[in-house]
Amino acid sequence: MASITLKNLAHSYHPDPKGPQDFALKSIDHVWEDGGAYALLGPSGCGKTTLLNIISGLLVPSRGQILFNDKDVTRLAPEQRDIAQVFQFPVIYDTMTVRENLAFPLVNRGLAKNEIATRVHKMLDILELQGKADRKARNLTADDKQKISLGRGLVRYDVNAILFDEPLTVIDPHLKWQLRSKLRELHTQFGHTMIYVTHDQTEALTFANKVVVMYEGEVVQIGTPEELFEKPAHTFVGYFIGSPGMNILPTVIEGNRARLGQHETMLTQSYPALTGKVELGIRPEYIRVVERGQGLPVQIREVEDIGRFRIVRATLQGDDSGAIINSLVPEDQSLPADADLLFNAEKVGVYLNNHIVSA
Ligand code: ADP
Ligand code: MG
Repeated sequence: MASITLKNLAHSYHPDPKGPQDFALKSIDHVWEDGGAYALLGPSGCGKTTLLNIISGLLVPSRGQILFNDKDVTRLAPEQRDIAQVFQFPVIYDTMTVRENLAFPLVNRGLAKNEIATRVHKMLDILELQGKADRKARNLTADDKQKISLGRGLVRYDVNAILFDEPLTVIDPHLKWQLRSKLRELHTQFGHTMIYVTHDQTEALTFANKVVVMYEGEVVQIGTPEELFEKPAHTFVGYFIGSPGMNILPTVIEGNRARLGQHETMLTQSYPALTGKVELGIRPEYIRVVERGQGLPVQIREVEDIGRFRIVRATLQGDDSGAIINSLVPEDQSLPADADLLFNAEKVGVYLNNHIVSA
């Protein structure tokens, strides 16, 4: 097993020496610590698969280095890297049985027969496929096929890392939950570095101790689920994590006050260096709907019931832009006819060019 270091990594699928280059990965410096359970979270197209393929060696990056511990593997072929990779769609041999499919990656690596049998048996147990071990893969359901695909990655537990590229996308929601908890169990048991790619925040937050968030070819934040929620380093993280996401409001700051249209809200500190336009980030959870005169006067545009909470969507009085501010209000709280919004100043973040400003 190994730590995986990415140094100044960049990749372009269309390197056009004349024009501006179009980079799927822009400049990534990151260390995946040995034995970490990571989620790699980001929207479709942000470069997650590209990054995994570079780690496993399916793709050679346009620039930068990959190190396993201290060894440079940037130009090593995939089979020399000892990385197991599970793809979004099942990669299995239809004409082989379940057992043969699971054994295949091990036979290929020349493991002893009894070692192979032991591992395959264990994997059949874990995936609850014992009853189907000798059936041909082609006769199984899509869920079972994806389980086999997962198992083919997991049987190789003497590898440097296991990479999962949205492996549960096609799986039934109930089973999804079950398999995710099995992956966690396996992580506890074997202590591999695991990188689990997903675009689903719930999946990321339940799988990992460390979530790496990617956006437009860059890593924009690394943190525990709680850190990502409480202190988004980038407006994208605030917006992407949580439901509804963080409100992002254009503002101008003077000392410890932030102007919002004709109104002002207080901050907990001064930002003397910030003169131009910036943005305030505040989560709907940290905005209260109060009586007129206690906060920022608004017009409530819509109230959406989501069970124990309601999402109150409002616009600032005098703001013609139509910009909506979401707040989250407990279901049993009554809403005043003339409402103000009161921001919890402790929870307001100040962002410049999408990055958080630390005063
Ligand atoms: P993700 O896995 O996060 O959805 P990808 O790594 O697949 O993102 O893609 C990142 C970017 O690279 C996207 O803009 C995508 O269109 C582009 N891309 C991915 N694969 C290829 C390819 N084989 N050829 C050209 N462009 C690609
Ligand atoms: Mg992908």
